[in-house]
Amino acid sequence: MWIGSNSRDLKVLNRLLVRDMIRKLGPIARYEIARETGLTPSTVTVIVAELLQAGVIKEVGHGASSGGRRPILLELNPRAAHVFVIRLQRGELMTAIFDLAKNILAERYCQLDTDDPDQVVEAIGADFEDLVQETQIDLDNILWCGVACPGLVSSHRGVVQRSSNLGWVRVPLSALISKRLGGIPVQVENISNAAALAEKEYGLGHGHKHLVFVNLSVGIGAGIVADGEIYGGVRGYAGELGHMILLAENGPRCACGRQGCFEAVCGARAVIQRARAVIPDEVFLEHGITKEKLTLADLRSSPLADSPEVRALIQETGCFIGVMVANLVSLLNPEMVILGGELSTLGEPLLQAVRSEVEARTLEEIGGNISIQISDMRGSAPLMGAYALALDRIFSLEEWDGHQVQARWQYGVTG
Ligand SMILES: [Zn+2]
Repeated sequence: MWIGSNSRDLKVLNRLLVRDMIRKLGPIARYEIARETGLTPSTVTVIVAELLQAGVIKEVGHGASSGGRRPILLELNPRAAHVFVIRLQRGELMTAIFDLAKNILAERYCQLDTDDPDQVVEAIGADFEDLVQETQIDLDNILWCGVACPGLVSSHRGVVQRSSNLGWVRVPLSALISKRLGGIPVQVENISNAAALAEKEYGLGHGHKHLVFVNLSVGIGAGIVADGEIYGGVRGYAGELGHMILLAENGPRCACGRQGCFEAVCGARAVIQRARAVIPDEVFLEHGITKEKLTLADLRSSPLADSPEVRALIQETGCFIGVMVANLVSLLNPEMVILGGELSTLGEPLLQAVRSEVEARTLEEIGGNISIQISDMRGSAPLMGAYALALDRIFSLEEWDGHQVQARWQYGVTG
């Protein structure tokens, strides 16, 4: 699994080994590190002293005594490094700076009135400067940037090959953002894949190796975790659930140019549009809601939520989603399906419709034990996924390109 160059010597490797052990098993005592790594106690003592001095790890009290003195416990210093994280959706930008212990130190949310890549990147850059100013974190201490974004993403090249929602074709997003951030390396991933990763690491899917996250937003996509890893297909584009065909004939036109796509029927905007069409004008009038300003929040709360038209609409939408989820379940045989995105905020009525549809449309052995739930991740699953990706990169043993602090961090010391 060692992929780096040969120039890094044994001492460096040992230092990384100790740092990773503390990261994974901390709080941990020196003698336990020696036992787990097979290094001699004196080697561990020297390395721990170096890591402590560099601020990478810290002492956090004493462990239980096994006869002698109580050992000092060590853990990773959550402020030893930071990551900048971005969730991009059509019309929305969410950014945050995290420490190494999943804490959001500062965040921004804004509506975007442009899809132009340069202007979006400029908005990201402005947020970044703002967040750095607010947190007073040294720029050298922000090691990676993780991005969750819609569309077909070549994550190893950092290119958004196509996003019908953003109207992007072949946008080199990693390079654009990295340049705007002064050279910080950037990892871009599809928004549903990022969310699936977050659920697996930190959410309802924790401990599960086979799960599907269905992102029900303006666009719809699925992130597939198969055998513990994101399943991307040959180019990383797998999971384009939103453009699977739901209505083969006379379906509504989709942003991708085709007809009858799942997203064109059940995407957040499509559902709002259908609601405008089915709710009688007098109901809008009676409750003082402007038809043009209708939102999903109106549909899930009184008085509209109680109207028979809205109930039927949510039921119908849940059935459509259930059909697609049933197909996914038959194809992939996951342990669990997690529904997220704006539409999932319609809650229990939607969930019940999805569950009964899946039950009715799958073989009992496949669909009988499946857990279908609405994401309960606080904050945003895609944002947390982008964080997980960035974290993964900074602890990766692969060497990075072109970032001035990579050597110091990757060799186990910052400074
Ligand atoms: Zn489509």
